Amino acid sequence: MLSYRHSFHAGNYADVLKHLVQVRILNYFCQKDKPFCYIDSHAGAGGYELSSDHAQQTQEYQDGIQRLWQVEGLPESLQSYLEEIRAFNGSKELIRYPGSPTIAQQILRRQDKLWLYELHPTDYKILSDHCQEDRRIRCEQSDGFQGLIAKVPPLERRAVVLMDPPYELKEDYQRCITTLIKAHRRFATGCYALWYPVVARERINKMEAELVASGIRNIQLFELGQSKDTETFGMSAAGMIVINPPWTLMQEMQQCLPLLAELLGKERSGHFRCETLVEE
Ligand code: SAM
Repeated sequence: MLSYRHSFHAGNYADVLKHLVQVRILNYFCQKDKPFCYIDSHAGAGGYELSSDHAQQTQEYQDGIQRLWQVEGLPESLQSYLEEIRAFNGSKELIRYPGSPTIAQQILRRQDKLWLYELHPTDYKILSDHCQEDRRIRCEQSDGFQGLIAKVPPLERRAVVLMDPPYELKEDYQRCITTLIKAHRRFATGCYALWYPVVARERINKMEAELVASGIRNIQLFELGQSKDTETFGMSAAGMIVINPPWTLMQEMQQCLPLLAELLGKERSGHFRCETLVEE
């Protein structure tokens, strides 16, 4: 039974980090004319109204995108992320927030393809209605872990994968790693980005250790924390683990993350990590 709905969390600090990394990877891939495909294993609804009951109930976006919206003088990489959010809003006012499929849809070119997987019936319907007219997109209401394995290696031989499960099921932590290792065995040159929440630190330590032990090379980790780690109060930080990142990503994140920790941290408790887990 699926209960997670991203509409409660859209635009929070974890989305800011995730989508900043996503934008920077996709912008980098677009520097070459050669087509590539984007695979979103857990796509969500594609877009979210911030005035909805769900968003208003949690108001998480207030401590995320809302805090960045009017800030001036941000580094170019953060500006490029904000441009995508502004493009989706179409005005100076922040009224909605794009999901990862829409951000990819905005950035990708005519020659590129998008494969989107979403299991929740309501979110799948919203997503597929949104994508209907776009011939570059294939949208499936099926398991994204299996979908990813079936799609690699892609015809284009260039791919960006975003894996962003809700971690509603504890086995998702293990499934992410097992699936990434399997996908990488079939297609070692793809760029894979995995989002994770820090709810219990030891689970993330285990994921990192398994990836490091897998033999996969060229892995970086970027994490943004709002408050100190806690065992009792839910998510304190969120991160992205990127296999085969663009060579420019580390430097960009080293510039953005200290700033984001300062701007989005709670009561000066913001923190970040920018690490190479495995060298090239
Ligand atoms: N990637 C989206 C974004 O950034 O806008 C948010 C995705 S949300 C965190 C996770 C989504 O995965 C939920 O909408 C949930 O219904 C869906 N989901 C859960 N298990 C899944 C599975 N095995 N395969 C595909 N989708 C799944």
